[in-house]
Amino acid sequence: MVTPQMAGDAAAALRNSLPQGVKLVAVSKFHPVDMLMGAYQKGQRKFGESRVQELLPKIQAMPHDVQWHFIGHLQRNKVSQIVGRVALIESVDSERLLQAIDDAAVKNGTTARILMQVHVAAEETKFGFSPDELLDFFRQGKYQQLKATHICGLMGMATNTDDAWRIEQDFALLNTLQQTVARECCDLRGFDTLSMGMSDDYPLAIKHGSNLVRVGTKIFGERQY
Ligand SMILES: *Cc1c(COP(=O)(O)O)cnc(C)c1O
Repeated sequence: MVTPQMAGDAAAALRNSLPQGVKLVAVSKFHPVDMLMGAYQKGQRKFGESRVQELLPKIQAMPHDVQWHFIGHLQRNKVSQIVGRVALIESVDSERLLQAIDDAAVKNGTTARILMQVHVAAEETKFGFSPDELLDFFRQGKYQQLKATHICGLMGMATNTDDAWRIEQDFALLNTLQQTVARECCDLRGFDTLSMGMSDDYPLAIKHGSNLVRVGTKIFGERQY
């Protein structure tokens, strides 16, 4: 059993072990608020949630200086419930979703900060832009149409495998994509976030340029679905 105290210590130890410039999102989905508070009390401020109906009550229950990262598949009809309330939507997986976020941000009078989710893993079920779709989106200058959205970078997951070589290939590709877009789109400001790495693979992700790791199990223990 992981206690809130233990979760807090684990988050703090993990933060302290990360290289300069690499930030930790504590992925708290399916864990109760007292566990999040344990991490908060040890200085954790970025928390990751994957479901709107779970995120909203947690925003209410937690202190106001928490920076919420939305990391799950987001339905367009729920966008207005989180725009203006989260620090970063990491899982933008389609142009239609991006447009819905931009519309909601305009309406809300805020700027939405987002990452584009890229699908590089072997699993077919993962959401996200393919590398080709991503490059097309930027090369066609579609980001220039956005009125109230700041695209801060990319998010991705590696193939779920024990094969470290395969995992490194996936992370290396995400890194190359981020650098390619940043180089080709000179008018794109602040496209500098590369969110990759979870409990089992974050050291490999950091090796390949991740500056935002999303760690759940290693901090809070196994999730009870
Ligand atoms: C659940 C989740 C994580 C955390 O996974 P762990 O293996 O528990 O560290 C990271 N990223 C995303 C997108 C997730 O859905």
